[in-house]
Amino acid sequence: MKKSNFFDKIVEYKISDNYRLFALPDFITKIQNGAGSANIKYFNDRIYEIAELDIEYPQKRSLLVTMIVIPREIYAELSGNPYGQSINGSYNPFDKIFRTALYIDEQSFENWIFERLAILHELSHVVHGAFFSLELREGFAEMLPFYILDLEKEYPEHARKIADLLPEEILTIKEVRQRGYNPPNVVKENLPISLRPAYIATYLLMRGILQRLTKEFGGDKIVALNRMLTKFAEFSVLAKRMELKDEMIWRFAGLDAGEDYRTLQLEAQAEIVELAKELPLPSYT
Ligand SMILES: [Zn+2]
Repeated sequence: MKKSNFFDKIVEYKISDNYRLFALPDFITKIQNGAGSANIKYFNDRIYEIAELDIEYPQKRSLLVTMIVIPREIYAELSGNPYGQSINGSYNPFDKIFRTALYIDEQSFENWIFERLAILHELSHVVHGAFFSLELREGFAEMLPFYILDLEKEYPEHARKIADLLPEEILTIKEVRQRGYNPPNVVKENLPISLRPAYIATYLLMRGILQRLTKEFGGDKIVALNRMLTKFAEFSVLAKRMELKDEMIWRFAGLDAGEDYRTLQLEAQAEIVELAKELPLPSYT
């Protein structure tokens, strides 16, 4: 099947007000007969976790997650995911506000129950896609689950890994840009996404920005998040016009001339160091 044919043939299947699927008619029939039902429930529960946050989306919309289920043979080509299977965010041809859809291959949809963190990460791309698409978006997709939803407590190995990093072990944003998120040596190590150096570096930056905003807004993370999203949306338009890229983050974060991303990363790490002290010790067997 060719790419163009696929988008002409798929049909919509509504799961809830916040969640709809697009798939080929034969596959929709399979779903109606129970295929992938465990995953549908699982995705729906994760979507609910994000939908119930009071995020103020453009045009007063509520969260709408569009999931496009694709035969595995054409998944890599359509989704841009080089692994040829699994789930990832990509352009949403069906909605003007939620510009990121989740692309998933049919077999993974039917058979593979995904990790909660992985799904919350992908849904975070849907969230920021309604506001901006910066090159540091992976940091946002880590920050929302780990900071806003407090998942650091559920993944103690993540908090401990970050707490133990020496400052020189945290990649600078410049290094992230040069190396990309998944350079071949890191992919070969098969590290979970959240433990890859570039994901940690951009997570710490996003978290550092949001920690400051949260303090500014009396500890309210959601007010801070809404503020961040609105500002990023504004600056994103400006930056595109002026080809500024990340300078917008500098300005928005109100950094002094002498400060840099480093300060924000280290502020975030310091909070995680405190948090890691409360977490259960690793068990050795
Ligand atoms: Zn991502």
